[in-house]
Amino acid sequence: MSKRRNFVRRSLGACTLLLFAVPHGAIAAATIAIDVGHYLEAPGAISARGRPEFEFNRDLAQEIDAQLQARDRSTQLIGATGNMNSLAARPHLAAGAGLFLSVHHDSMQEFLLSTWTYEGVERRYGDRFDGFSLFVSHENPGWRKGLRCASAIGAELIKAGFKPSLYHADKKVGENRPFADKRNGVHYFDRLAVLRNARMPALLFEAGVIVNREEEKRMADPEVRKRIAAAVVNGIEECMP
Ligand SMILES: [Zn+2]
Repeated sequence: MSKRRNFVRRSLGACTLLLFAVPHGAIAAATIAIDVGHYLEAPGAISARGRPEFEFNRDLAQEIDAQLQARDRSTQLIGATGNMNSLAARPHLAAGAGLFLSVHHDSMQEFLLSTWTYEGVERRYGDRFDGFSLFVSHENPGWRKGLRCASAIGAELIKAGFKPSLYHADKKVGENRPFADKRNGVHYFDRLAVLRNARMPALLFEAGVIVNREEEKRMADPEVRKRIAAAVVNGIEECMP
């Protein structure tokens, strides 16, 4: 019995030590949390050639993460394993970080899509729109800083030769998301769950439209991905010096 009590005490001692060594929510305010949009079981949009959005998001998020680390920035990558099925848990995991960036790739409304056959399989595609979009939410307490970061990232992307899609603001085809910064492709999307649940400045980035057959090829190109990530990192360095 005493043996058991000793064991319990030792175990508790070890736990207490661990608690002090790795306190919860100890993520530094300089940390940038990079969220891989969607997960394996619900992988988001499906590209014109049938590749799930989650895979595009993971590749780009990992590239942004690597480039930030190369500049000695502290980062936290969320959802890269594909098991993160709770939207609310994502920003919660990042508690204490200075910025929350959710990485996505865009689609279009169903009525804008057509059908083609690629490698023997019928797929949905839409070539009408291309380009990046950025979103912030008024329900995110850090939205003003989130907007500054989104504007800086949009400006860097334009400088690097990318263009904002701008179609999300259209009442009919883009679901009427008002502009927060039209020039740099930033919209308000107040009810977006992953942004509303974040306590730190947060923004959502749609890097490109993967149902567009040409843009999908660009988004799958590692060189293009590196250039997108570099622009995102430059923008973050401007808003979080
Ligand atoms: Zn998405």
